[in-house]
Amino acid sequence: MKKVLITGAAGFLGSHLCDRFITEGFYVIGIDNFITGDKKNIEHLLGLENFEFVEHDVTNFIELRGGLDYILHFASPASPIDYLKIPIQTLKVGALGTHNLLGLAKAKNARMLIASTSEVYGDPLVHPQTEDYYGNVNTIGPRGVYDEAKRFQEAITMAYNRFHGLQTRIVRIFNTYGPRMRLNDGRVIPAFMGQALRGEDLTVFGNGSQTRSFCYVDDQVEGIYRLLLSDYDHPVNIGNPHEITIKAFAEEIIKLTGTNQKIIYKELPENDPLQRQPDISLAKKVLNWTPKVSREEGMKITFNYFKNLSTEDLHNREHKDFDKHIKR
Ligand code: NAD
Ligand code: UDP
Repeated sequence: MKKVLITGAAGFLGSHLCDRFITEGFYVIGIDNFITGDKKNIEHLLGLENFEFVEHDVTNFIELRGGLDYILHFASPASPIDYLKIPIQTLKVGALGTHNLLGLAKAKNARMLIASTSEVYGDPLVHPQTEDYYGNVNTIGPRGVYDEAKRFQEAITMAYNRFHGLQTRIVRIFNTYGPRMRLNDGRVIPAFMGQALRGEDLTVFGNGSQTRSFCYVDDQVEGIYRLLLSDYDHPVNIGNPHEITIKAFAEEIIKLTGTNQKIIYKELPENDPLQRQPDISLAKKVLNWTPKVSREEGMKITFNYFKNLSTEDLHNREHKDFDKHIKR
């Protein structure tokens, strides 16, 4: 049985990856410190024979007995509100955490895949974004802590690849959504769905002309799975190229939820990218991958998930209690 270590296992993407690798017959070790994740996301796996969970902060040394075939490093705050609230922890998990995991991969002779992001392109001047675009990032802006952590993560991963001959993979993930996103993480989909379910106005930042392209989680997981098992070791965009403005998206959510909410406009956050759309030609070519789930279909599944959360979860405005999880 092949063994895979997944960091960020109690998070949104990490927990779906654990499910997928279990289904594929792997032995899965999940690591998480719950800083932005939730035990509930992996509760259904805890009794399984081929699943093991370790509560640990990966910015500290990671000790693991036995062999290991693959590492998927998904631990990192991922929502703009989360990484603005824990900027240093975000930089540390991208830098120190990645370094620790690369060291572990080297010691175990395992293949390592890192979760990079479309944020490495910053507020892009090339549209749609291709992997050979170097990006337009404000290093000292509020999003710099996340963007630069991810850029460093790519750089150190390629250094281990070139200098140590380590097998590495880099996925550049574009906005992905689905069940198990945290309702109060501030990202646009949980934000709009929570507002619709509570009967509140939908908050569009800026004039809503900025664009995003939303990928359903099952498509994202399929792309990551194929990339890990492929021979390709340069960055690959995985996302759904179907682009929409945030204003049109808010209108779509109002229609989907059957609520009659109004849209209200709030200030656009600093350095909020004005346009984002993945060019997925490379993923098509090297992984024979394209997304299959339409936004309409994926949003319906996601809305059903949020609709079935408890009233307590729906009305819980409190952001994560980060202090419980970190030493500053
Ligand atoms: P998430 O916040 O749901 O999951 C991240 C998980 O990592 C959480 O469970 C958190 O507790 C854990 N974590 C954070 N720091 C840790 C540490 N030091 N030690 C151990 N665990 C730690 O976010 P997500 O959306 O699932 O994102 C997962 C990964 O994918 C991140 O690396 C993120 O940058 C990347 N990504 C996600 C998206 C997206 O649209 N969801 C887009 C681009 C990139
Ligand atoms: N956004 C919004 N209203 C909200 C939350 C987000 O208009 O309540 C906008 C945000 O300004 C951005 C887009 O939606 O332009 C996507 O934001 P998100 O936080 O999901 O992720 P990003 O793609 O910016 O990392």
